[in-house]
Amino acid sequence: MSILSEIIGTVKDVIDVARSTATGMSITLSQIPKAKKTVSYPEEPVTIFQRFRGEHMLTRNADGKENCVSCFLCAAACPADAIYIEGADDPRPYAERETQDHRYAKIYRIDYGRCILCGFCTEACPTDAIKHGHNFEWAVYTPGEMVKDKEYLLKNFERDKDLNIKLV
Ligand code: SF4
Ligand code: SF4
Repeated sequence: MSILSEIIGTVKDVIDVARSTATGMSITLSQIPKAKKTVSYPEEPVTIFQRFRGEHMLTRNADGKENCVSCFLCAAACPADAIYIEGADDPRPYAERETQDHRYAKIYRIDYGRCILCGFCTEACPTDAIKHGHNFEWAVYTPGEMVKDKEYLLKNFERDKDLNIKLV
């Protein structure tokens, strides 16, 4: 290769780099006048869509009774085998029970190491007992912490109302 062709190749490379840099900078600079999307969460609310599938919550009815009737439909619908339930019976009258039905979930667990947040469980549930909440702060340090029990999921029903979010 002659010296002249080497010089021409180098000049072409320099022009290509300059063109790429100019293109990149033009995109960056074009964003400066636009409205900023950064939110100082948790001091400011973060915008979340209604359909967002966050951490699940087990719901209660207007009387404060657990809605789950331990029918296992959510576990059957789950493609990831992430839901574990053990049912039990509570023969006491409605006023004395924690649950809306005699049949209830003594144990209800979701393993978020398996869950793919598909929402099938919520669609299968006949009593709207299992729903996706809006919580997205659920990072943990160990796999064991990814398994959430019934008490935790019931508390999520209360926590969801206190999240610093703006639903749209
Ligand atoms: S969201 Fe999907 S993967 Fe997760 S528990 Fe429900 S059905 Fe299973
Ligand atoms: S959460 Fe719903 S679908 Fe799952 S066991 Fe309870 S009532 Fe049945």
